[in-house]
Amino acid sequence: MLAKPRSPDQALAHGVWVKWIGGASNQDLPAIQDLAGIYALAGVHCLDVAADPAVVAAARRGIAWAADHGAERPWLMVSLSDGADPHFRKAWFDPAHCPAECPRPCERVCPAQAIGVPATGQAGVLTERCYGCGRCLPSCPLGLIEERDHQLTSAAVAPLLAALRPDAVELHTRLGRGEAFAQRVEQLRASGVPLKRLAVSCGLEPAVGERATPLPVSPSELAAELWHRFAVLRAAGYRPLWQLDGRPMSGDVGAGTAHAAVNLAMAVAAQSPPGPLQLAGGTNAHSLAVLERQGSKGTVVRGVAFGGVARSLLQPLLQQAQERGRTLLADASLWPQALALAEGLVRPWLALERR
Ligand code: SF4
Ligand code: SF4
Repeated sequence: MLAKPRSPDQALAHGVWVKWIGGASNQDLPAIQDLAGIYALAGVHCLDVAADPAVVAAARRGIAWAADHGAERPWLMVSLSDGADPHFRKAWFDPAHCPAECPRPCERVCPAQAIGVPATGQAGVLTERCYGCGRCLPSCPLGLIEERDHQLTSAAVAPLLAALRPDAVELHTRLGRGEAFAQRVEQLRASGVPLKRLAVSCGLEPAVGERATPLPVSPSELAAELWHRFAVLRAAGYRPLWQLDGRPMSGDVGAGTAHAAVNLAMAVAAQSPPGPLQLAGGTNAHSLAVLERQGSKGTVVRGVAFGGVARSLLQPLLQQAQERGRTLLADASLWPQALALAEGLVRPWLALERR
């Protein structure tokens, strides 16, 4: 039995913070509403979705459903970027160029069922469902699938934020993009929206074109860049949350990916600026065990975010609901199963201090 749920800020302070990631470019509204509702009811402290009015409205409907079922309202966070970033891409190909005899490996590897079935007349990428995980890109034997970037213009940021009024923002950045980061922060500030946190998402990849030899980048270099971001946030009056992308956009749920996220956090922690540190990228059901083996539960790492694994876990139930012509939240025979699965992923983190 869990104790009384903690507020998002308390969860960060106690190292039991859990965030659900809907995807910075995911516009699959029925799935977002369903997943937001289920994970909010499972007890996550924050829902992180695309900075898109329809997506935010879908997430808020999910939150309202969860609140009606007794959940605490989590923070709503929206994701932005200060430059090109795989989180803000979508896959694209022209199905007219696909040979009729192709066994369609692209369709099979897509975790979001975003690549249409020819029999339905939708053989290409269904843009609203694609969240840019990248799994399909190498799957095409003819190399037909390309990635397309979806980013806001500078002028669009402040009015969009003022319209969405989220509780928090996640800003994806990369090494070498300090100036672009500062500009985005200024645009956020211009919106006048008070933010409870500004989460900075960064991994070890440098900005595209920043280096002749892009890898490897060391954890020390990453920590130095985080200190720069910290100075920008402090000057703007924002409180940071550091999100370390161990393996960005992995879409992977295997045990091995958990190590990348934990190892990066452990390597950077001693040198990172003030503010809570959260695992992301490659996180899954094994992350906590990996963290515990390293001897750090809530001490170094203050929380976790689940994206691909959270969706994959519930995908069969989402599919069943879709086949029944209703949402998961509207199906009383399905949503309790979804909730049990979501709780299985989330509750070990929520219960950390009580072990
Ligand atoms: S595999 Fe990933 S990138 Fe490709 S269509 Fe599906 S969601 Fe989009
Ligand atoms: S694998 Fe390539 S050729 Fe085959 S259906 Fe997919 S995009 Fe078309």
